[in-house]
Amino acid sequence: MERLQKVMAEAGVASRRKSEVLIAEGHVQVNGETVTEQGIKVGVHDQVSVDGIPLNHAKLVYYLLNKPRGVISSAKDDKGRKTVVDILADTVTTRVYPVGRLDYDTTGLLLLTNDGEMANKLTHPRFEFEKTYVAKVQGIIRNEEMKQLRIGVKVDGRKTKPAKTKLLDTDTSKKTSLVQLTIHEGRNHQVKKMLKAVGHEVIKLHRESYGFLNLQGVPSGQYRPLRTSEVLELR
Ligand code: URA
Repeated sequence: MERLQKVMAEAGVASRRKSEVLIAEGHVQVNGETVTEQGIKVGVHDQVSVDGIPLNHAKLVYYLLNKPRGVISSAKDDKGRKTVVDILADTVTTRVYPVGRLDYDTTGLLLLTNDGEMANKLTHPRFEFEKTYVAKVQGIIRNEEMKQLRIGVKVDGRKTKPAKTKLLDTDTSKKTSLVQLTIHEGRNHQVKKMLKAVGHEVIKLHRESYGFLNLQGVPSGQYRPLRTSEVLELR
């Protein structure tokens, strides 16, 4: 027997917290009876439905995508632009959602899942895995600026947590630099804002790894399911 909100979250209905709200608001039925109290436990033989629609006990699925440029990191886009979910739609019939976001013009590693519980955990500041980005920036980045990025810079009025940095290349004729930046946080446009804070505009941004996961064997625009061992390590 499992708690109702956990069963709902695992079926991909919503996060555990949002499932509790759905229960409290009277949207959820167990064996045809609406339940509004929290903490009810249900077993495999109980039929749970949300607004009368039975939970299909959707299998939890996890994908790693190498996001190309010019694709939106959300399930839907008001302006009708291509989304990361559209990329998977050719073979994945389960409704999945991106874990966190990459900007429209950012490329690289993005996880997608229907496991609301895991997505919540992974994007919670307490659990944030290390993410490594490679940024091509305008101008030649100085050692002092690299140090500032490592120590922390002010972004939206708040100092960023310590980061790891590596200067990969500089092009003195084009006046650009290639920087690797590893951060724990996942604040909005964080890498672009960090580099802007030390005086450099980002020209290109790519996420090459997420915790222990990287893009090896996954070309741009392609994706692969996570291995069970990888899922267990993320949990
Ligand atoms: N930081 C950014 O600025 N953009 C991204 O897409 C990811 C991290």
